[in-house]
Amino acid sequence: MAQTQLQAAREGTVTPEMERVAERENRDPELVREQIADGQAVIPANRHHDALDPMIIGREFATKVNANIGNSETTSDLETELEKLHTAVHYGADTVMDLGTGSDLDEIREAHIAHSPVPLGTVPLYEAVKRAGSPEAITKDLLLEIIEKQAEQGVDYMTIHAGILAEHLPLTDGRKTGIVSRGGSIMASWMEAHGEQNPLYQVFPEICEIFAEHDVTFSLGDSLRPGCLADACDEAQYAELDTLGELTQVGWDHGVQVMVEGPGHVPMHKVAENVERQQEVCDGAPFYVLGPLVTDVAPGYDHITSAIGAAMAAQAGAAMLCYVTPKEHLGLPEEDDVRAGLAAYRIAAHAADVGTERPGARDWDDALSEARYAFDWHEQFDLALDPDRAQSFHDQTLPGDNYKQARFCSMCGAEFCSMRIDQDARADGKMKSLEEDEGTDLQTSPAAEVNRPPVGTHAAGDLPPMADHEGSDALEEASDD
Ligand code: SF4
Repeated sequence: MAQTQLQAAREGTVTPEMERVAERENRDPELVREQIADGQAVIPANRHHDALDPMIIGREFATKVNANIGNSETTSDLETELEKLHTAVHYGADTVMDLGTGSDLDEIREAHIAHSPVPLGTVPLYEAVKRAGSPEAITKDLLLEIIEKQAEQGVDYMTIHAGILAEHLPLTDGRKTGIVSRGGSIMASWMEAHGEQNPLYQVFPEICEIFAEHDVTFSLGDSLRPGCLADACDEAQYAELDTLGELTQVGWDHGVQVMVEGPGHVPMHKVAENVERQQEVCDGAPFYVLGPLVTDVAPGYDHITSAIGAAMAAQAGAAMLCYVTPKEHLGLPEEDDVRAGLAAYRIAAHAADVGTERPGARDWDDALSEARYAFDWHEQFDLALDPDRAQSFHDQTLPGDNYKQARFCSMCGAEFCSMRIDQDARADGKMKSLEEDEGTDLQTSPAAEVNRPPVGTHAAGDLPPMADHEGSDALEEASDD
């Protein structure tokens, strides 16, 4: 049987995937190997995912962002689902999770894997509920059958809700919002109906064997994550975390890569505590957090409430951030919501990489600031995280080409532009000149790929051709920007 990345790393082998992520991160391949061997980082790379450009998730590397896509029972067709994949990659998702619960799940998953340059994650429990007809009708054999099929299809990582145990359920009784994880509520319902332990926990060793065969990475689900600030860091959440720590060891014993999912809704003063506790309990396995939202009062703006928590979590050591869109708690996100969510999370991830002094991470900020002070508007737009948005906002009030050399914008106006006044004062000798340097050269920056522009401006050529599938024309057009 071929080795997993973890097994190869433990034997001292630097795989082609490790070489590639070292190149993308601008780091030594030997550091990548060591981090994988110690379980401190993962490269989700199913051996059947031919279109993948490998990436790494670990606290020693640049912070990554995941976007969730997928159909529901009300919206479901292949073309729409491929467009969602394209949109997510276009706006800078490092991985994509297909949370589909509608129809044609196999066809859509296979198309996603055929076309996705980023790792694809799934939650096999959702397909199990759909196939069984209800949570209670799920069987252990069905779970294993679905997990094995998805592994053979090429899914790179799977959320497995094995950490919620029967003895944890009473601990949720005093909560304000009960169990808010979909997978968690399904497993709780099954355990109540059968009077048995969590079936995913029961068959966890068999899942490890399937994962080892295809090199699927665990994303251990946090079924008891808090759904509101009041439930954060409670006994139920931390009891499950202890089980996730045990399961991390079981995965590693089978030679399988492991990352661990985290909350959710957490007040600011407890975000770092969450990360530090997970890192201790799970021996440094990468932490993959959903937000967390730091206040519950802003439905419609939860990409912001959660990006604040995400930036704090990343600075404290979380390795990947699962984005939240403005539609969170309200409805299925559309393209504009995906764009807003990814922008918020790319900002959180980059801000944390600057704050933790990742090699070269601030060079991008410096280059943009230099362009701004030089009134090089075109360069400022090009360097922006979302160039189209930056230019369109500028051009709303000053659209003419002549304003692309202007030493002001409409915010302060020509007379009160502070940067113009400052520059004139220095030219007049009223103030000392600024130190002149050669400017920041992003081409030679040691920054990881995700900390250099353009982020979220993948050209159509970056994605594998869509020609094998219906709807390819629409996708090609959507890529032409
Ligand atoms: S007008 Fe104000 S906002 Fe615009 S470039 Fe000058 S200082 Fe900056």
